[in-house]
Amino acid sequence: MDIENNIEFEPVNDFDMDKTPPGPLKPRICPCGCEKEFQPRRRDQIYYNSQHANYAYNHGKRKEKNKNRSIEEKALRKNDDILDLHFKMDQIDNVAECFLKILISQGFRSRYHIGMTEKFDKVYYFLYRYNFYLFKDENNLDKIKIYKR
Ligand SMILES: [Zn+2]
Repeated sequence: MDIENNIEFEPVNDFDMDKTPPGPLKPRICPCGCEKEFQPRRRDQIYYNSQHANYAYNHGKRKEKNKNRSIEEKALRKNDDILDLHFKMDQIDNVAECFLKILISQGFRSRYHIGMTEKFDKVYYFLYRYNFYLFKDENNLDKIKIYKR
């Protein structure tokens, strides 16, 4: 009459199922940042538990997002500084006209801007202190016009 219970008390050997070799696993340090030492139940258990795994995932993603944001802000500030330099050197009647490749060689990247507007078929891009406009001159060379905002 106790046969069923005895069967249930047989130790369930799931080692074959998860391919974890028998024998205790070495304690690990949870890599989420908590530094907690834990005894993994499975060979593929990386974090202390699912909360720690979620924390690590979100934290990593947020860090990546902030990193991208600071790269973008840096590029925008650099662009604005380069326009400032050329505007101060070359402006005539509140517009400076320069060869784009000179600005590019100084690190200017036209894809980094904070906005744009179309006026008379021309596209003007905005930075913090300046607007710029890209065009080709009569020799098919890329040029930029810089305006103070
Ligand atoms: Zn942790």
